[in-house]
Amino acid sequence: MTITEDARELLATGPLCDACLGRPVADRSFGLTNEERGRALRTTVALADDEPYESVDPVDCWVCDGYAGTFDAIAETVVESLAGLEFDTYQLGTKVPPLIEENDRLLREDAGFAEDAGEPFKREVNREVGRRVGEATGATFEVERPDVLCVVDLAAFDAFDTLETGTVTDHAVDVQVNPAFVYGRYRKLERDVPQTEWPCRECGAEGTQLGPDGEEPCTYCDGSGYMYETSIEQVVRPHVVEAMEGEEGTFHGAGREDVDARMLGDGRPFVLEVKQPRRRTPDVDDLEERINDAAAGAVEVEGLRLATYEMVERVKEHDASKHYEADVAFADPITEDAFDAALAELEGATVEQYTPQRVDHRRANLTRTRTVYAVDGDLLEPTRAEVRIHGEGGLYVKELISGDDGRTEPSLAGLLETEATVTALDVTAVEGEDEPFEVDSYFRE
Ligand SMILES: [Zn+2]
Ligand SMILES: [Zn+2]
Repeated sequence: MTITEDARELLATGPLCDACLGRPVADRSFGLTNEERGRALRTTVALADDEPYESVDPVDCWVCDGYAGTFDAIAETVVESLAGLEFDTYQLGTKVPPLIEENDRLLREDAGFAEDAGEPFKREVNREVGRRVGEATGATFEVERPDVLCVVDLAAFDAFDTLETGTVTDHAVDVQVNPAFVYGRYRKLERDVPQTEWPCRECGAEGTQLGPDGEEPCTYCDGSGYMYETSIEQVVRPHVVEAMEGEEGTFHGAGREDVDARMLGDGRPFVLEVKQPRRRTPDVDDLEERINDAAAGAVEVEGLRLATYEMVERVKEHDASKHYEADVAFADPITEDAFDAALAELEGATVEQYTPQRVDHRRANLTRTRTVYAVDGDLLEPTRAEVRIHGEGGLYVKELISGDDGRTEPSLAGLLETEATVTALDVTAVEGEDEPFEVDSYFRE
């Protein structure tokens, strides 16, 4: 069939607006809108048959019920719904009423077209409204992970009303704002600060308990609701959420150190995820300063950068080795020679560690195997030493020293045949095993 015959078949189904006439042949001739295709077909048929040219307004179209004439008005409402939000990328989706989808199908069937000829109405709306939104906002259309996603529900407004008034109710547009991410590294300069907030185990963060005279402050947490006064998360989160004008935030750390261990050196990578952000590009230097001022020395952050969604997985999954500095106390005095020999034995050793006794008992017991990459130290007194360890991620360092009643093998205690205890522990570096955490593709600028 020629294109003119195709057009005659389509026109014979009933009054069709230009967009609905052009849509079943949308795969022909790139660079035209369906409306332009339809108008050209109608003109061609009128010329070929020497009949008067008569256009059909969308309001009279049997297929789209007027909706093909509402793209401008929908786009305007979408743009209004996005006002006040900062975004670089967007995506648009449309809910098409089943009746219109059925008409679109019947049009092809009646005209003898294949069921999937041209493009579906839904895709036309997405493209046409999307293009207008892009032009009005300067944002880029993105399918994968847009900053904002707008969903238009055609059934939420009446196309005939819109064709008259030129407006679409904002109930028809739902805007979903995807999270934004800030990457950084934290140092913990004081002990007894957990990484994430730790609700009181007695009152479950309520801060209250039931006494003889009714509700009273929880005695376990002094009414604070928390096991510790603060946490890295509580220090960082409010400032980032505020700077991005978000609803809430989630802290993602690249592993965690023990509550009583400090985190020194260049710090530990983390990502703060902000839900429903209205701002996506806060001044990170300013943000860093505000966090550090408020943390008053207990915690420091540095290297803050705007990150992509992928950075969350990066900090959580990227294999990292750790450097530690441990103060160790021995039950019996030991000699310099024995100390050096034990360290030499541990250097490069493959350590088998059964889940430590101090670790959460809900965690499955298993034996893990980890490598001690390097170890050295100084015997400060016969019963006191400083030990520096570079170990594979997941190595339990306190148990490498103590032996954990034989559950870790080999261990410093086992090799020296005396009790050895870590009295203070610092993590001095967290480094990616194969490559650094900070790779440009994970950042937004
Ligand atoms: Zn139509
Ligand atoms: Zn409590």
